[in-house]
Amino acid sequence: MNMICIMCPMGCPLTVEENNGVITVQGHTCPRGKKYGEQEFTAPVRVLTTLVKRADGGMASAKTSGPIPKDKVREAAECVGKIVVSADVKIGDIIEENFYADGVNLVITGVAQ
Ligand code: SF4
Repeated sequence: MNMICIMCPMGCPLTVEENNGVITVQGHTCPRGKKYGEQEFTAPVRVLTTLVKRADGGMASAKTSGPIPKDKVREAAECVGKIVVSADVKIGDIIEENFYADGVNLVITGVAQ
């Protein structure tokens, strides 16, 4: 499997293969790339960054406090689309706990004035 490491702007091209249960990563230039390649190959994850509606008609930005399974990102985004938070929501407020992954919360990251 070929992929680009997205852990920094270098964007190293990675090749990840599995032989007899052993995963090998080639093309990385630092340990983060090796870890990223192994994670992407076995159980890819993403941090969801999104917008939520406020009760006053405005919007607030939000993100998951950690990565969630990549195959759940679309479902999670659709779920966020149905959420309406209070008008006085603040940065750091938790909207949902254990949001599509244990220990990962959906958190407010910005509120337009
Ligand atoms: S392998 Fe290391 S240097 Fe290359 S893109 Fe990934 S994090 Fe950056």
